[in-house]
Amino acid sequence: MRTKPPRERDSTTPGRGAGGVEVEVYPLGPFETNCYLVYAGGEARGAVTVVDASFEPGEMVARLRELGRPVSAIVLTHAHVDHIAGVNEVLGAFPGARVLVHEAEREWLGDPELNLGVPIGVRVTARGPDGVLREGDEVEMGGLRWRVLHTPGHSPGGITLYSPGVAFVGDALFAGSVGRTDFPGSDMGVLTRSIREKLYVLPEETVVYPGHGPATTIGRERATNPFVRG
Ligand SMILES: [Zn+2]
Ligand SMILES: [Zn+2]
Repeated sequence: MRTKPPRERDSTTPGRGAGGVEVEVYPLGPFETNCYLVYAGGEARGAVTVVDASFEPGEMVARLRELGRPVSAIVLTHAHVDHIAGVNEVLGAFPGARVLVHEAEREWLGDPELNLGVPIGVRVTARGPDGVLREGDEVEMGGLRWRVLHTPGHSPGGITLYSPGVAFVGDALFAGSVGRTDFPGSDMGVLTRSIREKLYVLPEETVVYPGHGPATTIGRERATNPFVRG
């Protein structure tokens, strides 16, 4: 594994509700997996939700401590090793957080073969899940309700978390690319359908926060993504 580049931390306010919702991104570990902190901005003092927790989450945990709020949940876009490797460390600091994953990957947290840890040489497991998610479920993050969209193809239990204006898409869709489909359980046809039928139908101004790389928008990907045409 190569050494990781300097980390960055962005904060954005999509601008809905009182103070909007704050989103901070931490590209963590050797795969620069984007892990997100989501919490209500402004004067609101609600809980923080973590979306994915990768290798070496120390800086993100330090930020969580600095925020001084409870951590309600770690919501996993999917359970590949690079999205779950930091779960136990976050839970060590915030044991009350619930770990949520799509029902199709409920066994993956405890199985390094399924979560692809073994193929990359690390036997990673994570506690949980404490609950499972399905298409159409709603989760609360940052004082907003987010709809769970089942977006499989990169992995069978891949989900998108959508609230008007913002979508966390995991490894389904990237800026100018799409998730790998050469893993066990991956399927390019299924991924293409997920992107066309669940993501490209969202409003074009929707900000897309992917599992790797920079943020983008639904409109930009629908117009220019070379892997799945709109
Ligand atoms: Zn993945
Ligand atoms: Zn990934």
